[in-house]
Amino acid sequence: MEIKDNKNLYIETYGCQMNLSDSEIVGSIMAEEGYKTSDAAENADIIFINTCSIRDNAEKRIRKRLREIKKMKKANPDLKVGILGCMAERLKQQLLDEEEVVDLIVGPDAYRDLPNLIKTVESGRRAINVLLSEDETYSEIEPVRLGSNNISAFISIMRGCENFCTYCVVPFTRGKERSRDPETILNEAQDLVAKGYKEVTLLGQNVNSYTWENNGKSLSFPELIAKVAAVSPELRVRFATSHPKDISDELIKTIAKTPNICNAIHLPIQSGSNTVLKRMNRKYTREWYMDRITTIKKYIPECGLSTDIIAGFCGETEEEHKETLALMEWVGYDYAFMFKYSERPNTIAQKKFVDDVPEDVKSSRLTEIIALQQELALRSNKENIGKTFEVLVEGFSKRSDADLAGRNSQNKMLVFPKRNFKVGDYVLVKVTSCTAATLIGEAV
Ligand code: SF4
Repeated sequence: MEIKDNKNLYIETYGCQMNLSDSEIVGSIMAEEGYKTSDAAENADIIFINTCSIRDNAEKRIRKRLREIKKMKKANPDLKVGILGCMAERLKQQLLDEEEVVDLIVGPDAYRDLPNLIKTVESGRRAINVLLSEDETYSEIEPVRLGSNNISAFISIMRGCENFCTYCVVPFTRGKERSRDPETILNEAQDLVAKGYKEVTLLGQNVNSYTWENNGKSLSFPELIAKVAAVSPELRVRFATSHPKDISDELIKTIAKTPNICNAIHLPIQSGSNTVLKRMNRKYTREWYMDRITTIKKYIPECGLSTDIIAGFCGETEEEHKETLALMEWVGYDYAFMFKYSERPNTIAQKKFVDDVPEDVKSSRLTEIIALQQELALRSNKENIGKTFEVLVEGFSKRSDADLAGRNSQNKMLVFPKRNFKVGDYVLVKVTSCTAATLIGEAV
């Protein structure tokens, strides 16, 4: 893409992978306006903060960052500051009123309007667009790859969510579900392969509810992922994030029979108790979830499994918490994102339930969940000792430049001596030892 001018844009991204992918779309739209993405805030003409509203903590961090940026703006009064993403959508004009350092507020469906909004800001006025859309998927925009290792990339395939889990702000900040034209998805995958990329992650708030309908024909997520995998046998394909209600047998069988679709499924359980799942409006039961895991293990015995868990949701009793621990043990997760419940304004839970689990109880339950997960991860990693995995090299190990690091199909990180291997190579590595977080091995 040709850059017309030489203004610097610095984008700081918080939250989920969807936000990272959106920042790449924003980078592309801004490149058309003559802004080059820079990796330092200090020499930027404009700073965008792509925000997350999922937990109160995330918003507090962003407010703190704005105070730092305020000092930068004092030193450089021409600096412009924009807030993008979920926090922009949630707070709208209020954020402009509360944060005088902010010049621009843009919601997740309004990035195409950035050229107009930037003109307003460049003329010295403040600008806002937080309109949600029913069909925006940014389908034909070629993302600028930010902070990329030139090996792995995200492809956004659907946006929005209408599941209305009671604790979640996403349906309000990201609007209705809509799927992207498969042709543009396949073009993006082909383009990445041509540029030497070896791994793509198909992204969506509910990636497996993807469905494309056109001229009486429809394409489901299992059909789409098979098409993406067929782009090149050298390309690894992953996907995130799935909703348990949409993990069909067809999808599980497609993963099982397609060698380059990775054997790793992230399936957020949130709670192991049916009564809590009901209050959360998760639309599945513990039994349904267990049946899905049984089916996954039947067709993909070596499948890596990860999850999200919330400790201390409204009304959660000790027994309900114990059901979560028991379910974790039963599944034997390899990895989990674990959090205390954080009430978000205007969610269904905030209107309907009392956030009544005391903070210290939430903390102690979370500590138990984390301790159990550590045990499960270590147990699962120990079972891998002596096995050989194909690893896609992503970079150097964090600890030593003499070692390389990469992931296997199950999404586990492996570290091994570098020898003559380089980033982007597929290497067969035999596991010799492990920690709870990493497998350690030797190339064979
Ligand atoms: S599925 Fe539930 S938790 Fe996930 S984005 Fe939608 S409402 Fe939020």
